[in-house]
Amino acid sequence: MTGIAEKLADLVGPKGVIGPEALRERPTSYWDQAPTEARCMVRPGSAEQLSALMRTCYENNQAVVVQGGLTGLVEGAVATAEDVIISLERMNRVESVDPWDGIAVVQAGAVLQTVQEHVAEQGFLFPLDFGARGSATIGGAVATNAGGLNVLRYGMMRNLVLGLEAVLADGTVVSSMNQMLKNNTGYDLKQLFIGSEGTLGIVTRAVIRLYPQTTSRQTALLAVENFESVVSLLQRMRAGLGGTLNAFEVMWNDYYQSVTGDSGHDAPLPRDYPYYVLAEAEGVSAGADEDRFTAQLEAGLEAGEIADAIIPKSAAERDAVWKIREEFDSALPAYIYDVSLPIDAMPTYVDRLKRGVNNWRDDASCDVFGHLADGNLHIFVRPSDSDGHREAADRIVYESLEGLRGSISAEHGIGTEKLPWLGMSRSNAEMALMRTLKQALDPKNLLNPGKVVG
Ligand code: ZN
Repeated sequence: MTGIAEKLADLVGPKGVIGPEALRERPTSYWDQAPTEARCMVRPGSAEQLSALMRTCYENNQAVVVQGGLTGLVEGAVATAEDVIISLERMNRVESVDPWDGIAVVQAGAVLQTVQEHVAEQGFLFPLDFGARGSATIGGAVATNAGGLNVLRYGMMRNLVLGLEAVLADGTVVSSMNQMLKNNTGYDLKQLFIGSEGTLGIVTRAVIRLYPQTTSRQTALLAVENFESVVSLLQRMRAGLGGTLNAFEVMWNDYYQSVTGDSGHDAPLPRDYPYYVLAEAEGVSAGADEDRFTAQLEAGLEAGEIADAIIPKSAAERDAVWKIREEFDSALPAYIYDVSLPIDAMPTYVDRLKRGVNNWRDDASCDVFGHLADGNLHIFVRPSDSDGHREAADRIVYESLEGLRGSISAEHGIGTEKLPWLGMSRSNAEMALMRTLKQALDPKNLLNPGKVVG
C-alpha cells in the first residue's frame, strides 16, 4: 500500500484497512459479482476514527465512497480505482433499546434484519422491511431513505429516524441524536443526510423509532377484474381495518404470468385475471383481527371488487404467496424501475408504457407491479437480448411520465443510474438549491462524487 492508504492505515491500524488486491475478492455489489476496484477500503471502529480518516482525506483531496450492504439498485455506491471506500461494517452494534421512549440507538453498519430481530426480543417492531433485509445496513437505509413493504402503514426510513450522528467531509462530527418525536428547534438537520446517498455526510449512528410488536397476521391473495376495483378495494381495506393494513401489493397480469407457471412459482389463482392484490394486515388480537379481515374480503366480494381469493392457511402457504411478489428471478434479466405517480394516473401511465415498449421492439416485454398505496410502481423492461438497450428503455419508462405529476424514483434513489433524468422530476430552482447544499457541505466534492447532483 502506498500514499493515502498508508496514511489512513496509521489511523485505524492494519486491521482497519483492506488493500486493493484483497478488495478485488469482494464483489462490486449484491447484484454484480465484478471485483471491487479502489485505492483501499477503510473500516473505522468509531465515529472518532472516521473523523480522523476524513480529516486526512480532506487534507489530501481524496474522494471517498461509503458502502453499506451494497443492495442498492441505482449504482449509488460504486467506487472508481481512484476512490477510497469507507465501510462501517465494524460499527454494527445495536447500542441500546429504550422501552419507555420506544426507540433504539443503532450503529450505521448494523444489518437491518439483525436490528429487527434484536428489538423483537424486547417486544418491539422496527417496521422498515424489504427483500434484501439480510444484507442491507441501517446506514445504507438512512442514506437512501429506503422504503419497501410496510411504507403504507409506517412510512419510509425518513419517518423512522429521530436523530442521527454524521461525519462531514472535513471530519467534523455532527451529533444530532434527538430521541423525542417532538423537537422544533430550528432546521431538522438529520433530514439533510437522509436520502442524500452519501453525498453530504457519512451517517455513523441513528436513533430509530420502534413500534409495538404485532401478534396476529392476516394475508390474502386476491384476483381483481379492473383497476377501479383495485382502488376501491384499497380504500375499503384501509378504512375497514382501522389502520392495520400493512401491505397492499398490486401485480399486473403480465408480472403474475412472468413469475408463475412452468419456470416460476406455483400459481395459486388462475393466471388470466388483469390484476392480483396481495393484502396483509397485522394486529394484536388474532380472533377479532381475523373476523375484521374476513368481513372486508366478504364485502369486497359482494361489491364485485374481488373476483377470486386465496387465504393462506399456514406460514408455509403465506411464504409461497409472498414469493410470487418478492422472488422474481424468472422475470429477469430485465431493467428494473421504481417510478411513482398519483394512483389516478396509473392506468394512463401503464398504457403508454406498454405501447412504448411494443412499438420499440417486437421481442421486448414489460411487467408491472407495485406498492399501490405509496403511488409506487415497479417496472421490468425486458428486451429479449439483454445488453445495450438501457438508454432506450429509460426513455420509454421516464418519458411516459410526462404530464402525469410523477417521479423517476419512488424509493431506489438517483445514484448514477438516474442522474441524466433527474431534471424530469426536479425544477431548475430545486436543482440549483441541491447544488448549493452540496457546495456548502462538501466544497471539495469528496463525498460520493458523481452521484445524485453529478
Ligand atoms: Zn419496492
